[in-house]
Amino acid sequence: MTTDGQGPAIQAHGVSKVFRGPPDVRALDDVSVTIHKNEFFTLLGPSGCGKTTLLRLIAGFEHPTGGHITLNGQEISHLPPYRRPVNTVFQNYALFPHLSVADNIAFGLQMQGKPKDEVARTVDEMLKLVQMEELKARRTSEISGGQQQRVALARALAPHPEVLLLDEPLSALDLKLRKEMQIELKRLQSETGITFIFVTHDQEEALTMSDRVAVMSSGRILQIGSPRDIYQHPAERFVANFIGESNFLSGELDGEGQVQLQGYQVSGSVPDGVAPGPVTVLVRPEHARISIDGAGIAAKVAEIVYFGTDTHYHLALESGERFIARRQNAPDIETPFGQGDLVRLTFAEGATQVMRD
Ligand code: ADP
Ligand code: MG
Repeated sequence: MTTDGQGPAIQAHGVSKVFRGPPDVRALDDVSVTIHKNEFFTLLGPSGCGKTTLLRLIAGFEHPTGGHITLNGQEISHLPPYRRPVNTVFQNYALFPHLSVADNIAFGLQMQGKPKDEVARTVDEMLKLVQMEELKARRTSEISGGQQQRVALARALAPHPEVLLLDEPLSALDLKLRKEMQIELKRLQSETGITFIFVTHDQEEALTMSDRVAVMSSGRILQIGSPRDIYQHPAERFVANFIGESNFLSGELDGEGQVQLQGYQVSGSVPDGVAPGPVTVLVRPEHARISIDGAGIAAKVAEIVYFGTDTHYHLALESGERFIARRQNAPDIETPFGQGDLVRLTFAEGATQVMRD
């Protein structure tokens, strides 16, 4: 989807959060971000980088120590959590185990004092949305983890919030269910048009579900972009390492903006402001080609690891550097290279990227 012309939903303006110690913890450090209406936006980063803290500030459970947050361009700092058109799906679901599925979904609406018939209508609509109509009378202690997840989503969506905050909602599910719920969440977002702010430490979740992703580290946002942007053009080494697999090679940038990698000239991108001289070059494993002879960097096959869908070749370069190249496997074709073979390494057009670091 495109977010053009939709306008901002949530904006953080230079937001900082320090938890007073000792020791003081700077959980967020000058974070600025604009999240558009109807966007599936993901905060991605390792544990402790400040994702939950940013969600809690948006929800109103915490207050910034610096900067401010706006909703639809309006300051919301003075609004308590229950006055914000924002709802949260927590990691542990936080359902009422003794209540039925339907009563769990109705809970927030009843708290808002909605009329009975409206509550019943909305609950039915939500049961349908998350495909839980048949289990509506069951207690939530008597349904599976995946079904509980759906109820938690339905309950959070029932009051029609403008913004839904999802804090690692899939992390308790097993792999197969998690993959199903990834698709399901994407569907729910596009069907409801609600702005989703999704938190995860899982790069695959971020890449597969999001319109845009903010990569965080140590309380800061390092890069914001589409999944393709951040994968193809990571702004710095941390982002490249955190998303996908990376090879970093030492190269030399000359005065004409050409990059030499061990005597081999490569064609990829160079970010603005990188000075000529020694540089670090990123190459993704799937963008490398191995051949028996011809041009390219001389390498020796050190290790071969078979993954079913593809094979990883661990190469030892003359420079002493290691490089992992990945080749997709074809049916019934043996791997064409063996351990100890001398090979040549080349890169797809545009595959190399000079890192700014
Ligand atoms: P994430 O959700 O990315 O794992 P958090 O936002 O939960 O990270 O935490 C960011 C940092 O702030 C961590 O160092 C964490 O220990 C700290 N932190 C979070 N909440 C509190 C709190 N209430 N008091 C003190 N430190 C906190
Ligand atoms: Mg967290």
